[in-house]
Amino acid sequence: MNLGLKNKNVIVTAASKGIGKAIAKVFLEEGANVAICSSNIENLIEAGKELQSYSENLIWKECDLNDENSIGDFLSFVKEKFGTIDVLVNNCGGPAPGTFETLSDEDWINGYKQVLRSAALFAKGVLPGMKEKGWGRIINITSISVKQPIENLMLSNTFRAGLTGFAKTLSREIGQFGITVNNVAPGYTMTGRLRELAEIRAEKQGKTVDEIFAEMGKTAPLNRIGEPEEIANVAAVFLASEKAAYVTGTTIQVDGGETKSLL
Ligand code: NAD
Repeated sequence: MNLGLKNKNVIVTAASKGIGKAIAKVFLEEGANVAICSSNIENLIEAGKELQSYSENLIWKECDLNDENSIGDFLSFVKEKFGTIDVLVNNCGGPAPGTFETLSDEDWINGYKQVLRSAALFAKGVLPGMKEKGWGRIINITSISVKQPIENLMLSNTFRAGLTGFAKTLSREIGQFGITVNNVAPGYTMTGRLRELAEIRAEKQGKTVDEIFAEMGKTAPLNRIGEPEEIANVAAVFLASEKAAYVTGTTIQVDGGETKSLL
């Protein structure tokens, strides 16, 4: 099946690990030109070398999603190499875990910058080119916390809901230019971030990390934790493809059926 992704210019943010890296891999396998970034240069170089084994059409540069100037520098770098961007995947590191009582003002500001402001800045950077071409895809990686808040993740619960409102509003403003805006909401997915959250929960509950992983898996009717590639297949292969041309302003959860709400 031709998904129409060959030679498309794609940005995947926060892609040195986990879900972002898996998304970059799928795009490379589909013949796209892919630019990735991360704030951790060592991990980024390691990921870049690994991903180059799938395709040479990959570039990377350090970028801190909390820093407006760093985002500007990254966008200039990618536009210079690729020209117009066709597909933007806004992924980010998870904001600090914690409750209303435990989180500091700085955590709140960083959560906003990382989850919501970075997505808006990237969208602003790529939209003029997409409008000119009359084609574009913006895909935000959120979380099932937009459907049902997750304990101890106050910032994720707050700012991903904000990002969902942003995406819906933007989709209505720019649909006329042939640009779609959608979100993918992962459930438990086996990455470094999940291990970090499992370690906190294990410590609190006096359990092992493996016990916590087993409990997490059981929350889904499919009875297991998801793999990053399973998120990537929905984000990249489907939502960015020509086949999803009439899908916009929506959130697709990829959670093994964990979310109980009807919509
Ligand atoms: P991860 O921790 O495995 O990877 C995060 C990536 O973000 C890394 O490449 C890291 O270098 C990069 N990063 C972190 N801070 C950054 C910054 N300031 N600037 C640029 N890059 C930065 O995370 P993951 O599990 O792949 O999750 C990706 C996103 O999906 C996160 O926002 C996470 O909260 C969300 N999510 C994850 C799960 C899960 O179970 N793994 C579930 C729902 C939502």
